[in-house]
Amino acid sequence: MSSMRLVQAMGVAPMADNMFAKWHGIDRKQIDWGPIVNADKCTGCGACVVTCGEKRNVFGFDRVNKKAVVLFQDHCMVGCNNCQVACLWHAITFATDDEYIRSLAATIPQDQVKREIEAKLKDNPELVSE
Ligand code: SF4
Ligand code: SF4
Repeated sequence: MSSMRLVQAMGVAPMADNMFAKWHGIDRKQIDWGPIVNADKCTGCGACVVTCGEKRNVFGFDRVNKKAVVLFQDHCMVGCNNCQVACLWHAITFATDDEYIRSLAATIPQDQVKREIEAKLKDNPELVSE
């Protein structure tokens, strides 16, 4: 079942305003990064569901089959693999790897990250270390 059909079947509403629509200026939908659950290995422990940040909530949980399911793969933080590390059953994989992310990083618009960090430090002056 496609992730959108899964979302509909589970009655989960996608975020109206997707705050994860861009990755350093790159359209997130153009980026192939996100977890894949091997249902044969998944024990339904739920560790991935609770590990993924609450704003991202990439995973849902299928109560009937007692398996984690990927609902919003494009909310996954590019380069993160926390859920894979948290899955003691090795049920989570990624289709792409660090090398792919490095090649993407080379296409980030010039000064994009510099602008982002300046904006963040302006909003969070307590993060500045003199
Ligand atoms: S952590 Fe692994 S085994 Fe546990 S629910 Fe997630 S995918 Fe399944
Ligand atoms: S890699 Fe990180 S952001 Fe992506 S689903 Fe796993 S825990 Fe969530």
